Amino acid sequence: MSASTSTHIRTCPLCEATCGLELTLDDQGEVTVIRGDREDVFSKGFVCPKGTTLHRLHTDPDRLRAPMVRRPSAEGGSELVEATWEEAFATVADGLARVVETHGRDALAVYLGNPSAHGHHGVLFGRPLVKALGTRNVFSASTVDQMPKHVSAGLMFGNALTIPVPDLDRTDHLLVLGANPWESNGSLCTAPDFPGRIEAIRARGGRVVVVDPRRTRTAEHADEHVRIRPGTDAMLLVAMANVLLAEGLADPGPAGEWMEGLDDLAAALAPFTPQAVSAPTGVDAGTIARLARDIAAAPSAAVYGRIGTTTVEFGTIASWAVDVLNALTGNLDRPGGAMWPSPAHVKARSAPGGRGYSLGRWSSRASGRPEANGELPVAVLAEEILTPGKGRVRALVTVAGNPVLSTPQSARLDAALAELDFMVCVDPALNETTRHADVILPPPSQLSKSQYDLAFYALAVRNIANWSPPLYEPEGPSEVEILARLALIASGLGPDADPQAVYDLVVDTLLSDATTKGDAPLAGRDVEELKGMLTAEDPADRALEVMIRSGQHGDHFGARPDGLTFERLVESPHGIDLGPLVPQLPDIISTPSGRVELAPAPIVADLGRLAAALDAEPPAMVLVGRRHLRSNNSWMHNVEVLVKGRDRCTLQVHPDDAGRLGLESGGSARVSSRVGSLEATVEVTDEVMPGVVSLPHGWGHSAPGTRMRVAAARPGVNSNVLTDAEVLDPLSGTAALNAIPVTLEPA
Ligand code: SF4
Repeated sequence: MSASTSTHIRTCPLCEATCGLELTLDDQGEVTVIRGDREDVFSKGFVCPKGTTLHRLHTDPDRLRAPMVRRPSAEGGSELVEATWEEAFATVADGLARVVETHGRDALAVYLGNPSAHGHHGVLFGRPLVKALGTRNVFSASTVDQMPKHVSAGLMFGNALTIPVPDLDRTDHLLVLGANPWESNGSLCTAPDFPGRIEAIRARGGRVVVVDPRRTRTAEHADEHVRIRPGTDAMLLVAMANVLLAEGLADPGPAGEWMEGLDDLAAALAPFTPQAVSAPTGVDAGTIARLARDIAAAPSAAVYGRIGTTTVEFGTIASWAVDVLNALTGNLDRPGGAMWPSPAHVKARSAPGGRGYSLGRWSSRASGRPEANGELPVAVLAEEILTPGKGRVRALVTVAGNPVLSTPQSARLDAALAELDFMVCVDPALNETTRHADVILPPPSQLSKSQYDLAFYALAVRNIANWSPPLYEPEGPSEVEILARLALIASGLGPDADPQAVYDLVVDTLLSDATTKGDAPLAGRDVEELKGMLTAEDPADRALEVMIRSGQHGDHFGARPDGLTFERLVESPHGIDLGPLVPQLPDIISTPSGRVELAPAPIVADLGRLAAALDAEPPAMVLVGRRHLRSNNSWMHNVEVLVKGRDRCTLQVHPDDAGRLGLESGGSARVSSRVGSLEATVEVTDEVMPGVVSLPHGWGHSAPGTRMRVAAARPGVNSNVLTDAEVLDPLSGTAALNAIPVTLEPA
């Protein structure tokens, strides 16, 4: 490195893998190169193409640097124009107050997009905003993603965040369903260089099996690839569990002492024999039985299911069955199996038991869809806006995300957003969703804030803590200030209220919990004294410091001198390795029984729906999504180096189907579902199985009024035009973005 350059180390915030990055800066402070940080304790130098372009999000000329406010246009309509922050916050205060005064708080709704979970700022300060809005119309990307796993974890283990992850680095056998970590680098399983970790399983003599309708890159690198008809993973998984029980292979091991419901489970699974599920899944009965016997026979094994198992009609059953298999084979909570991380920001528990998990505590107004995790299905957002009557949504707050592209029946949501009385978006992009806003409040770029992956260290295959400082000063208010000021406005305190009140509230609440609640690690300590011991300055970092110091690895504000402190995090730019995952039964369980519930009543009741589907006539053709290493949902398509080259938004069609329908590569096909229709460029390939077509989601950047010039030049098509908002996994409210029945014809 020359004397005029410098380096900056930070964790990549772009996906769940949390890779360490090394940024080289020139003498003007501009980032010139990004590499993997070889000293990072977790990623050890791994990086993907997205990570090397992080600075391009910061320098993107389309990124909003000032708020935009809707004003009357010269043509007699309206347009979004740049405004000052004071004008923008005042407009938000007026807009929300008007709706609340006229229609009440039930007319407010909020949508939280995925990017807001990629760091501690959005996670910690989104909560006060949601609370201040005082509405049950809370929506997020979770109901087009991982909500089934939250629900199954909540019902089995008592807490929706207590999700076991495959112990990748020690397992002897990995069974992957509906996931393609070679492209996505893993999800609900934080593991930088996931592909390398899979190769290591095979290198140490282990076995990797992939179940997927597509021959993904992950499947190509596995020992075995089993094709399955989309949407039927739940059937396969429960039939495997049935085999274990019927053949006397079920042995939960020492963890069995803490399990409840084995007899109920056996009865509930009885109809799901390999023979019964073979036809609907397309997997022969012998293979199903062998897959079950293989995981039972392996010295250790982990079953891992992801998006293809969750964004389907039977998502919660599939998510539950994954952990039932882990439990029945003695792999739950043992090294090499499925284990719970011990994240540094979470407090230790000293005994099992708790209030457990409830769902369906309220329902959506128009179609009566039950809540899960305090959220309503995003699939019903459009109907909540469009359906007249008391409680109709009239104002929407979005924080990140692009639901017009990423949620079901997009065309209807797009039209519904135009009907709102008021919409405010916290977003750096003028995209297909935010173009409907009355006010856009752009947070600074990722490089202008500190980074700590609260959400993803709770899902990591090692216990890791890693904090990164901001590289640049923000151009305007920080993300936390924007969220805090919105919370104050939503509380009726006006646009000029001091955001410090919210900063204090967050820290005070965390300290109060740590000194009084449950297993309070700081019981008896004085909150004011503890506040005086905080060293961080940024509001989000101060809140994080409380969590870290009162967490299970923390110094408990001096009571454990060797424990983790915020200062140690600051002094450890390459992260702190807190060791491999360790067994945590029984204390981690917070069900009322204090035991793992193998047969939760809501899931057992839903098995009747799965049984009924065994005999249903399968659709002739179904649509599934797919991932690409250079893409992340809808939010990396304005980076030229990531989207250039071959068109990736193609419709993959099997050669047999293409021949029968008269389709050829490079030609155009019309794809139609119950709710929509689109034209896509055909790619004939045997990557997909006959009867299955695949289109990536997150594309379709052709709407007028956006400012994403690179994306608009290669718009692709929006697959969610085809997704049916009425087809949901009923327990979690998650939309079936996969296995959509479609018809195909040459266009
Ligand atoms: S794998 Fe994910 S975290 Fe790692 S560099 Fe790529 S985008 Fe960033």
